[in-house]
Amino acid sequence: MKPTIQGKYIYEFSHENEPITSIKLGDTIEVETIDCYSGALKTERDLITDFPTLKANPATGPIYIENVNKGDVLEVIIKKIDLNSVGVMPTRPNRGLLGDYIQETQTRILSIDHDIVTLNQSIRFPVHKMIGVIGVAPQGEAISNTTPGEHGGNMDTKDITEGNTLYLPVFHPGGLLALGDLHASMGDGELNGSGVEVGGKVTLQINKIEGVTLNMPIVKTEDHVMIIGSATDFRDAVRKAMLEAIRLIQHKNEMEFADAYRLLSAIGDLRVSQLVNPKVTVRIVLPKEWVSI
Ligand code: CA
Ligand code: CA
Repeated sequence: MKPTIQGKYIYEFSHENEPITSIKLGDTIEVETIDCYSGALKTERDLITDFPTLKANPATGPIYIENVNKGDVLEVIIKKIDLNSVGVMPTRPNRGLLGDYIQETQTRILSIDHDIVTLNQSIRFPVHKMIGVIGVAPQGEAISNTTPGEHGGNMDTKDITEGNTLYLPVFHPGGLLALGDLHASMGDGELNGSGVEVGGKVTLQINKIEGVTLNMPIVKTEDHVMIIGSATDFRDAVRKAMLEAIRLIQHKNEMEFADAYRLLSAIGDLRVSQLVNPKVTVRIVLPKEWVSI
């Protein structure tokens, strides 16, 4: 395997970012990431408000993938996620859905050990690791790492995890893949605005697939495909993901729009990935046999 890719970060996805390394299709790579606060919150005395100029969500990269061009679909097999042993969850006024109930900025340091997260002496819960930020250079202008979109980015979708495969549309030569913002756990919605934020190492295998185009990211699990839509307005995000789901169903199956719409309503689940970023993210979950990817 190539040397670990590490130490260089972007804060916005852009085709103008200079690649830090180049890989070939089929390569397996290890990427080291730092937490979404760039490691600034080391103890519970370090408050997020003490770092007013901190740029959030550093993503390691970008990685240039040879023989990948606009219109291609990148396949990112997430083989392994190794988390560091310490995570962090700040709370602060006006952050998250109930931020108006929070009077004081706090930092909570959480230990991560043997797949258990310790919130405090008596509260523990299992690790559910995931990648919060992963994407390619977007079509048009640069997009901040805090914002999700058709290029991926801050999707905060908990199924983007070990064992699953992410598919991303490519908008520029080389794709320019970058990732960061690992979570030791995060529930659907990311309700207080933070997962269990942590650094770590991610092992990925990168391929491209033929025979399909994508307008937005998809994650495939053992049994399902999930079409990931983001928009400023919740219903717009749902509509976007629905249209892409119907397009993909029709691509595989001879079916008029109205029947694909019925099928989607009959067998598709809507899940909320996150409600706290500048655009909200939802996913439409379909049994995988209905989509050829
Ligand atoms: Ca995030
Ligand atoms: Ca995060």
